[in-house]
Amino acid sequence: MASMIRYCFISEWLDPSSGVLWKYQLFWYPETKEVEMVDIKNRRHFLKRTKYEEIRSSLLYIGSMLTIFGRQLKLTEYGDDFTRNSIESQTERTLAMIKPDAYKYMGKIIDAICQSGFLISKLRVAKLSKEEAEGFYAVHRGKPFYERLTNFMSSGRICAMELVAPAAIRKWRELIGPTDSNQARAEAPNSLRAQFGTDKSFNACHGSDAPETAAEECAFFFGRDRYPGKCDVAQNTTLCLVKPHVVTDGGAGLVVDLIQDVFDVTAGQLFTLDRNAAAEFYEVYKGVLPAGDFNAMVDHLTSGPVLALEVADRDGASSVEPFRQLAGPMDPELARVLRPESLRARFGLNTIKNGVHCTDLEDDGVLEVNYFFTILAQS
Ligand code: GDP
Ligand code: MG
Repeated sequence: MASMIRYCFISEWLDPSSGVLWKYQLFWYPETKEVEMVDIKNRRHFLKRTKYEEIRSSLLYIGSMLTIFGRQLKLTEYGDDFTRNSIESQTERTLAMIKPDAYKYMGKIIDAICQSGFLISKLRVAKLSKEEAEGFYAVHRGKPFYERLTNFMSSGRICAMELVAPAAIRKWRELIGPTDSNQARAEAPNSLRAQFGTDKSFNACHGSDAPETAAEECAFFFGRDRYPGKCDVAQNTTLCLVKPHVVTDGGAGLVVDLIQDVFDVTAGQLFTLDRNAAAEFYEVYKGVLPAGDFNAMVDHLTSGPVLALEVADRDGASSVEPFRQLAGPMDPELARVLRPESLRARFGLNTIKNGVHCTDLEDDGVLEVNYFFTILAQS
C-alpha cells in the first residue's frame, strides 16, 4: 500500500465549562480527509481516525484555531519534523498595512488580498499616535522624509493585517508594487499602490521587507499586551459582524466595500470567539428564539473567524436603523425578494448563516460595539 501523508500537530482545547486545558496530538490525513486525536496526558485515543471534511489545509498553521466537532482547538506546535518541514514553507507571514490615504478603500484592498490567495490571520483597525508611528518606522529615523511619513501615518485610521501564504513577504510586496505610486502606475498598473496611492509619500500600503522585520512588525500590532492605536468607541455607532462563513469564503472585503460606500468604518478587528463569549453576546435571543436556533447561531459564530466592524453615520447621526436597512431582513430568502441589494440577500445562505449580524435596537449599538472592542479586545 502506498504510504499516506499524515500531518501531526500539538493542539490545545480549553474546556469552557470546567476551565481545564487539554492537550492533544492532532493527526490530519489530507488524502482521505480524516482526523485522529490522542490525549497527550493519558496517552489514549480521544478521537479515532474519522472522516471530517470541513478542515481546510490553509488553516493548518501554528496559532490557528480549528473547530473540530464543535471543539475549538488551537494549534500550538508541530508534532513532528515532516509536518514542520511541509507546513513551514507554506505559511510564511508578513505584516500588511492599509495607510490612512487608502483607508477608504479598505474593502477593495481586503478583497484583493483574499482573491490573491492570502489568508488574513489577524486584522485590526488602529489610529496610531505620532509616537507610535515613530516607533513603527524607527529604522527611517534621521531620513529627510521621516517627519512627513510619521505625520502622515498618525493622521488617520490604518488597517494592520497579518497575512499567511507561501512566500507571503515577496508576494505581498509584488501585489502592492513599487514604493512610489507614480512609478507603480508606469511599471505595475494593476498593483495596489498604482490604484490607490498618490506619490512616494502617500502610497496606500505597507509591506514588510524580510522575515525579521515581518516578525517585528507583526509583534508591534499583534504581540501579547500590545495594542497600539486603539480606536475609541464613538457615539451613535452600530455593530456589524461579518459571519464566519463569509470570512472563510473570502467575501469579507466585498462586505466592507459595500459598507464603506455609505458609512464610515471607525473600528475593526478579526476575532475567534469561544462558546462563552458567543452565548453571552447572543444572550438576548435566548428566550426569544427556539433553543435549537440559539445553539445553531452560537455554533456558527464560533466556527471560524468573525470580522467585527464599528459602523458610523458620516454626519454623526445614529447608524443603527440605516445599517439595518443595508443588512436587510434576517432571512436571506426573504431578503432576496424584498431587498435584493441588501447584504443578507447577497451573502446570506440561510437564517443562521445569513452573512452579517447587525444591532437590533437603537440603544444597543454602542453596547454591542463596546462588547467587542472594549471587553473582548482586551480579554
Ligand atoms: P517601502 O518599504 O516600499 O514602504 O519603502 P521604505 O521602507 O523605503 O520607506 C517607508 C515609507 O517611507 C514609504 O512607503 C514611503 O511612504 C516613505 N518614503 C520612502 N522614501 C521616500 C522618499 O524618498 N520621499 C518621501 N516623501 N517618502 C518616502
Ligand atoms: Mg520598508
